[in-house]
Amino acid sequence: MPVFCCMHSLAPGQRAKAFRLCSAQSGEAMNNTALRAQTTRAAALFIIIFLACLAGIVSRPAGLLAAFWPANALLVGLFTRDRSLGSPLDMLAVVAAYILPDLLTGSSVVAAVSLSAANIVGGVAGIAVFRTLSPRDFKLGRPFSVIKMAAASCVPATVTSFFGAIAANLVFGASFEKEFALWLSSELTSYVTILPFIATMPHRWRNLRRVTTPSQRSFARMGPPAVAFAMCCAFGVLVGGPGATLFPLPALLWFAMAMHLFASTVFLLVYVVLAQLVLSAGYIDLRLDLTDPRTIVSLRFAISLIVLGPLAVAAITARQRSLVRQLRRALATDTLTGALSRGEFVRLSTHSMAEQNCAVLIIDIDHFKEINDTYGHAAGDLALTRFAEVVRSALGREGHFGRLGGEEFALVLPGVAVREAVHFANLLRERVADTPITRSGRTAFNMTVSIGISSAALGSTHLDQALQRADKLLYAAKAGGRNRVMAEIW
Ligand code: GH3
Ligand code: MG
Ligand code: MG
Repeated sequence: MPVFCCMHSLAPGQRAKAFRLCSAQSGEAMNNTALRAQTTRAAALFIIIFLACLAGIVSRPAGLLAAFWPANALLVGLFTRDRSLGSPLDMLAVVAAYILPDLLTGSSVVAAVSLSAANIVGGVAGIAVFRTLSPRDFKLGRPFSVIKMAAASCVPATVTSFFGAIAANLVFGASFEKEFALWLSSELTSYVTILPFIATMPHRWRNLRRVTTPSQRSFARMGPPAVAFAMCCAFGVLVGGPGATLFPLPALLWFAMAMHLFASTVFLLVYVVLAQLVLSAGYIDLRLDLTDPRTIVSLRFAISLIVLGPLAVAAITARQRSLVRQLRRALATDTLTGALSRGEFVRLSTHSMAEQNCAVLIIDIDHFKEINDTYGHAAGDLALTRFAEVVRSALGREGHFGRLGGEEFALVLPGVAVREAVHFANLLRERVADTPITRSGRTAFNMTVSIGISSAALGSTHLDQALQRADKLLYAAKAGGRNRVMAEIW
């Protein structure tokens, strides 16, 4: 609850007292808010891990191969992604979330506590290792990130499997070697599928919707690999045998190349869960003895290792796309002023001219050489930057603003008649003249601009001609004494 205080009518002594009271109250309010946020976070953590453990327990009776334990990878993923997690309340929520599902589904206290302890110890080791990775690697932002993620996953998987096998041996009398191999293959599978999903999930709901809501284009992109996936699976069912687990690989690679990184991780996660269910249900005749734990271990390792290939391709493709975007942005804008580069300005303006009447303005800073000579090149650069800011604030979202070269800029205003453009240009000219260029907090100088304006009729494709006409008028403005606007029609 916000705390409102009114101190206007209080005497100075009372005011000081009231101020202390207010500070105490607002401090208390802040503490309450922080406590509520912490409790909500711990509760959310509890629910997620609790449900994940329950899902793991429920998947056990479906068969050894179908058994999937997502809780540990989820724990490591959440704690690595949000490094502020780890308060005593968070840890309490985690411990309760691990032990309760076991107790609720009929395990003995000894079994629930010892198996949960193995999971939590491995999880803590995983958090420690993954927190040493750079956030960029954790988000699979580099080509080598997938290898690092897979290598780091081996640590919590091994620790959990070691303690889990000891617990299973002591509590149930199970063979240590067999349990260790089963736990390890299951843990690795869940780490390499769940961690990328958590790590690459977009931060904001808006971005998540953009990535996951299939648009017509993404449906079109998803269609061919989805058909290929169905065909590969059908082929696997037809041919059968141990090699059938590898058949979907080309479709998985295709998906990885075509989709957003996060969408690929979702698809790979779904693939792994489905593959384990389908194989253990016997829909594909692997001609293997699925009651032999060694076969299960081998199959699980195979599935988790298959995933690494498409995951690496998805990460590299995402990096390549982001580099191309950066490069395009760099090519499209001038680094000093942020105005459009000449090429991008021409491209966008030509597009607008084909659809509407446009006003074309050329703006040149007056006596710019003198500014450079008097105040230095750095001051000249600052003047160019300030000038671009003034133009952008006057322009709003309408129109294209480009740097033609040096201190010469151009504007194309779609749907604006020359008369309106003259009004705008004069406003801009006055704003530039009224904007002092300050350095180290002191006004160094003011500058003025001259502007030439021409018009481009609807459907005109010759920006060059309109620019040439505006350029002639600009020189007329210079000849007329500078700091003025000259247009084709007065
Ligand atoms: P006029 O009023 O006739 O336009 O005179 P002017 O001095 O502005 O025109 P002129 O074309 O003679 O000079 C332009 C100067 O702009 C010359 C060049 O050194 C300077 N210039 C071009 N690009 C940059 C830049 O990126 N930064 C700085 N600081 N100066 C630049
Ligand atoms: Mg000039
Ligand atoms: Mg010039």
